[in-house]
Amino acid sequence: MSMTTQTGWNDRFGASLMRSLTPPKIMLERGRGCRVWDVDGKEYLDFLAGIAVNSLGHAHPAVVEAVTDQASKLMHVSNYFATPPQLELAERLKRITGAGDAGRVYFGNSGAEANEAAFKLARLNKGDGSRTRILALQNSFHGRTMGALALTGKPALREDFEPMIPGVEHIDSTIEALEAAIDDQVAALVLEPIKGEAGVVDLPEGFLAAARALTEQHGALLILDEIQTGVGRTGSWFAFQGHGITPDAITIAKGIAGGFPIGALVTFGWASDLFSAGQHGSTFGGNPLATRVANAVLGEIETTGLVEAARGKGERIRAGIAAIGSPLVDEVRGEGLLVGIGLTRPVAPAINTAALERGLIVNAPNESSIRIAPPLIVSDAEIDEFLVILAQAMEAAA
Ligand code: PLP
Repeated sequence: MSMTTQTGWNDRFGASLMRSLTPPKIMLERGRGCRVWDVDGKEYLDFLAGIAVNSLGHAHPAVVEAVTDQASKLMHVSNYFATPPQLELAERLKRITGAGDAGRVYFGNSGAEANEAAFKLARLNKGDGSRTRILALQNSFHGRTMGALALTGKPALREDFEPMIPGVEHIDSTIEALEAAIDDQVAALVLEPIKGEAGVVDLPEGFLAAARALTEQHGALLILDEIQTGVGRTGSWFAFQGHGITPDAITIAKGIAGGFPIGALVTFGWASDLFSAGQHGSTFGGNPLATRVANAVLGEIETTGLVEAARGKGERIRAGIAAIGSPLVDEVRGEGLLVGIGLTRPVAPAINTAALERGLIVNAPNESSIRIAPPLIVSDAEIDEFLVILAQAMEAAA
């Protein structure tokens, strides 16, 4: 049997994978720490981490141990039974989110599924029955399933799949637009603390505090999609914790199990009483394998201080980008280890390609933004190496 190489697999991919996927150019075979290798043995420094997923990098011993030990013990049971890792993870999430005793956790298998659960939570906030509006933000991203897509504020992603689930309105990300839109018919406001897929775009100063005050005033749920911002990436366990507010619910996925699929909805306070038995569920959601891996990842992040460290590492990246002094850099956005570079010209795809050629993985979520989301374990030396290659890639694309 011949080995799969970079030249041997593209046609097979094109012939067999659903056309919904843009065909990739590189086939990866293995990883360790912040590095991955393709099928030809070429090494890449991974500053995307599966888009904010591989929190502990690749093949971390704590993850490998959790997967193998749990798989050999108990991988799946139905929801007719509880398991120790599931309960431990729910309690851990209540603690690290600050939801505390009044918090509750629902487990699914992905970010989109967590947001589907959040959508149903919003529907349960009925008031006298007229509370049917849901507010979300323009240019937001919440996933590809129909509920998550209805929340997503990118018309191009929605158009082919209309009609959408009714009730969602997308507003400008300004306090004025929110004030104008909100009333007592709003069941929930759903938003990302930093819009990741939009190119790591920050909300305006004071927006989250205003969102909290206005939703509270009108009896609407404030639901934060922390799927990309959560799990320590921004320098707090969850981004909202850096803004002095408490939401009614958050959704989590991506980095929580370091690459093992899992999603969660965590409710705070009165929102924890909205679901009743039988109203939602999932065959795989909260299975012992996924929850065991999440416990291992969160435990490792906690004991090694990676949440606090994300701030300093983010500062090193930001200072380094400024020191490159490229005329292509317009602004640097995001918090901690979720970094967006806004470009003065639409050369993000060219920078991305030039970086890949030089063995660096970043991402161009649009023509004029570069997104950087390395594993939380990234070292200072790796950051410095990244900055050297980024400078070369920007020069090549200029
Ligand atoms: N919400 C946000 C903010 C995301 O960034 C993503 C994925 O990129 C999702 C939801 C969807 O998550 P998933 O792809 O796991 O369904």
